[in-house]
Amino acid sequence: MSSKHLPGFSFSKHSLPSHGQIQVIFGPMFSGKTTELIRRIKRYGFAKYNCLLVKYANDMRYDDICVATHDRQVAKAVSCTLLEKIENLTADYDVIGIDEGQFFPDVVTFSENMANKGKTVVVAALDGTFQRKGFGSILDLVPLAESVIKLSAVCMNCFGEGSFTKRFGSETEIEVIGGAETYMAACRLCHMKEMSMMNTENIPNDCEKQLQVKNKNKAINAKRRPLESIRNDENKKIKLASS
Ligand code: ADP
Ligand code: MG
Ligand code: ZN
Repeated sequence: MSSKHLPGFSFSKHSLPSHGQIQVIFGPMFSGKTTELIRRIKRYGFAKYNCLLVKYANDMRYDDICVATHDRQVAKAVSCTLLEKIENLTADYDVIGIDEGQFFPDVVTFSENMANKGKTVVVAALDGTFQRKGFGSILDLVPLAESVIKLSAVCMNCFGEGSFTKRFGSETEIEVIGGAETYMAACRLCHMKEMSMMNTENIPNDCEKQLQVKNKNKAINAKRRPLESIRNDENKKIKLASS
């Protein structure tokens, strides 16, 4: 059955319901939520809908201006930390895709308002935190949505189905944005295991390397003085020398 015929989906403009809808894509990290979001948005684009993709501004893991998957698929997006800030952009769009929906405090009200205005809202989000608790207010979307799926990743310890996100280290803050250097997908049993019992050799480290390079560049740039201030100092020295 093509996804066009699945309940809650309508990719063709001709079979578009006149009312809006909310579609939710849940799952742990690495389960393909962003991949699925990009797939749906691209498909709506082919069906001639105007699509707007929104990313969380503090998520700059792989790209500053695009939504990006762990395997480096990218799609242009607008970024913000509060969805109300981009509400003025939405008038011309039929479909709004939101990545990392769990990070937006106003994701529930925004999605509901947009759907009530006739728009299709596709939200990709972590359903649970690394402690397997509901992430922010995201679960409140469930009773408001026309369609909800939960994807699974590969458990990086036993290679079974990983439905949960496990965090390395002892940080307890909920919003710690990271990739394979911070998180792994885990099944129920492996999520419970002590880190010392885990087979960390299986955890991909390409993301880690990329992040280290990016953070190093950022640190170098932060230390760099702006060119203008260096020039001012040089001018001062020249003036002093000539006076
Ligand atoms: P999400 O948005 O759910 O974090 P993405 O859509 O960004 O996931 O990335 C999914 C991709 O991540 C997969 O297609 C695969 O290439 C890669 N990947 C890395 N680790 C895993 C894993 N443990 N299980 C499944 N896919 C993984
Ligand atoms: Mg993602
Ligand atoms: Zn496992």
